[in-house]
Amino acid sequence: MEDCIFCKIVNEEIPSEKIYEDDELIAFKDINPVAPIHILIIPKKHISTLMEMKEEDMHIMENIMQAVQKIAKEQKIDVSGFRLIANCGPDSGQEIMHIHFHLLAGKKMGPKIIF
Ligand code: 5GP
Ligand code: ZN
Repeated sequence: MEDCIFCKIVNEEIPSEKIYEDDELIAFKDINPVAPIHILIIPKKHISTLMEMKEEDMHIMENIMQAVQKIAKEQKIDVSGFRLIANCGPDSGQEIMHIHFHLLAGKKMGPKIIF
């Protein structure tokens, strides 16, 4: 979608430090990391929020979870652990209106979900 930063990253119009790609997804390092490992996992298809997902998009979630497991093993955080967060809508503070999951790891995180 035009003017979407993450679509531009998918199309390589904006550079990113990509760490994973398949037919449907990419994962790349967050430009402003809040943990030693901060990776964003996004579908190549532009979907603005989790609430905009249609029935035919639901398989993307399965693929994202498979990618999470692969990335966690590659990054060697499969045993030490990680936090997976998806913001949706104004109260969450979602800034980029293209579905993404934050994969945070590499430090001991507190009990609060907020980062
Ligand atoms: P949100 O608040 O929408 O859940 O998170 C958006 C995330 O995207 C933020 O953590 C922000 O640092 C990251 N981000 C915004 N613009 C860019 C960019 O151009 N490149 C990369 N790699 N990350 C970005
Ligand atoms: Zn987009």
